[in-house]
Amino acid sequence: MTTSPGTQQIRTVCSYCGVGCGIVLDVATGPDGRRRVVKASGDKEHPANRGRLCTKGATTADMLAAPGRLTTALVRDDRGAEPVPAPVDAAVRETARRLREIVDEHGPDAVAFYVSGQLSLEAQYLANKLAKGFVRTNQIESNSRLCMASAGAGYKLSLGADGPPGSYDDLDEADVFLVIGSNMADCHPILFLRLMDRVKAGAKLIVVDPRRTATAAKADLFLQIRPGTDLALLNGLLHLLHENGHTDEGFIARHTEGWEAMPAFLADYTPAAVAGITGLAEEDIRRAARLIGESKEWTSCWTMGLNQSTHGTWNTNALVNLHLATGAICRPGSGPFSLTGQPNAMGGREMGYMGPGLPGQRSVLVEEERAFVEELWGLQPGTVRADGVGRGTVEMFQKMADGDIKACWIMCTNPVASVANRKTVIEGLEAAEFVVAQDVFAETETNAYADVVLPGALWAEAEGVLVNSERGLTLARPALDPPGEAMADWRLIAAVAREMGYAEGFSYDSAEEVFEEIKRAWNPKTGWDLRGVTYDRLRTGPVQWPAAREDGPSRNPIRYVDGGLTFPTPSGRAVFHARPHMPPAELPDDDFPFLLNTGRVQHQWHTLTKTGKVEKLNKLNPGPFVEMHPEDAAALGISDGDRVEVASRRGRAVLPAVVTDRVRPGCCFAPFHWNDLFGEYLSVNAVTNDALDPVSFQPEFKVCAVALAKVAEP
Ligand code: SF4
Repeated sequence: MTTSPGTQQIRTVCSYCGVGCGIVLDVATGPDGRRRVVKASGDKEHPANRGRLCTKGATTADMLAAPGRLTTALVRDDRGAEPVPAPVDAAVRETARRLREIVDEHGPDAVAFYVSGQLSLEAQYLANKLAKGFVRTNQIESNSRLCMASAGAGYKLSLGADGPPGSYDDLDEADVFLVIGSNMADCHPILFLRLMDRVKAGAKLIVVDPRRTATAAKADLFLQIRPGTDLALLNGLLHLLHENGHTDEGFIARHTEGWEAMPAFLADYTPAAVAGITGLAEEDIRRAARLIGESKEWTSCWTMGLNQSTHGTWNTNALVNLHLATGAICRPGSGPFSLTGQPNAMGGREMGYMGPGLPGQRSVLVEEERAFVEELWGLQPGTVRADGVGRGTVEMFQKMADGDIKACWIMCTNPVASVANRKTVIEGLEAAEFVVAQDVFAETETNAYADVVLPGALWAEAEGVLVNSERGLTLARPALDPPGEAMADWRLIAAVAREMGYAEGFSYDSAEEVFEEIKRAWNPKTGWDLRGVTYDRLRTGPVQWPAAREDGPSRNPIRYVDGGLTFPTPSGRAVFHARPHMPPAELPDDDFPFLLNTGRVQHQWHTLTKTGKVEKLNKLNPGPFVEMHPEDAAALGISDGDRVEVASRRGRAVLPAVVTDRVRPGCCFAPFHWNDLFGEYLSVNAVTNDALDPVSFQPEFKVCAVALAKVAEP
């Protein structure tokens, strides 16, 4: 597209959150011949945002122009030395040599990969191919383990496959929304605007959150729940739906299994009992159940509040139970909808970039699925291993700290800042013999621990596919050349792989060629299907999977309905799971009497590696804080702006106080964005708990016991 002489418009996708808004970049060529993005606006034709953008997407031009990009590799000879610039080809050779050496000396399990939902689909695929198919290690994890692992595990248990059964279109047709454990207004703002369009037209909004967020402020019914008690509430709602005769017996009989055990299980979850556990009023619980039960169509949206829990998988199961019981699933306006935090976290889950995963939502634990990818990758039978599968991100860094993993390649993520109880990550990286980090800006908390830093390209500098929360594929298209020697992540992975001696599996000329190979991983069992998608087709607009045919529709909003509703479980039926209430791993006691909740603010994203470079966003959300209730602040002699130590059994942070009744008495909240680069003791992940969900291995970021105390000015 061209608008005025010298200005070109590139249609691409926002690289921040999983809403996946279409974005149009205006690119001008200056008198020096350099191309610059001068404006970012919403793509009116993109189905995710229809022209809207939030502050983060709208300031894309500022982020792209920010200083501090890596234009070469950085290497250092020993850990005490300052890193020095090095040519990328030399750094690639060094990376390959050290990884090869460590594999030869200690075996493949000594090498780990830690990847990200910010990589393109092609890069995620190649990282997993290199790890599981060629290095032959199953030590590959991603930052989705911190984010969506519980939703993924829960979907598989309840519905038979990962990913939402519905789509954003449901937001336009629901009569009732249950937003639980999600501050959509701040974290998925464009989707929340869409939901609010429907609320303004008469739909009802129920919000469940321990904190009165910007989302809660718009609710018809706000349930300010005690932290970590969602399972009790979800079971209590199902108890009432059953009692009120609002279950859909026909749907249950035709499309589900496991219901027969539910009434007896639910008997304990009376409104009085649930009110006692959750701290909610009985009448509010009854009202929520009535709103859901009397609705024609209802949709639930959730994110970290349910996922980042020691029973996150069960939370998903209990929420899906409500949809199955009311038959409110796989029809327009109804369904459980997990929102993803990163632009391609959904794609990563499809590429199997955590634990035992293989492309196409397959697993190394299934013999025929190993055989499938061995054929796809041109490998001898038995190459892909079923053993040595890890138990998540926290365990991976613990193994590094213990000396079992000797090398780690970190791609496009910042675990030193983002992992719960981050000292395990720091100890792991310090103990590892060789650490490679791959990122776009030179200064991150994690790059500081790397022996080699490889310069990646931003999504606006390279072609690649991103898959958003609703299974929509958008082609990211280059508006600019990468600076200096920076290059697309998939190119860096392929270059190292070729240097390691795997040229036969990694000689691609383009991202499109990688994408064509990815499509061959089509999985009829789960319905993951990109066969009808091509780069040429994506150049005309996004396509939502399952997409079997090139001449098929570009929107495929409801899964599992082809030829009659059939879920990809052995029986073809969705499964009810009786999931009893469990308390969080840590509860308040005399030494740590408060509960800390962590999350995000509206104008920053993740660990500030990108939004932290944008002046306009830093003005809107300038720094960290800890919110505490006025009663607690008064008891501790703390006023607004005082420096407060937030201490747990694991570590401490020192943050300015915000005294507010947004949080419940006995509770506090701190955003996790700010870290070491912005000052000492700003990392709230020095404090958080790395206790894990035993199914999804996701840490319990959302609840831990802390002590609060005023500290003197320095
Ligand atoms: Fe980007 Fe998410 Fe904002 Fe959309 S809602 S513009 S994808 S950050």
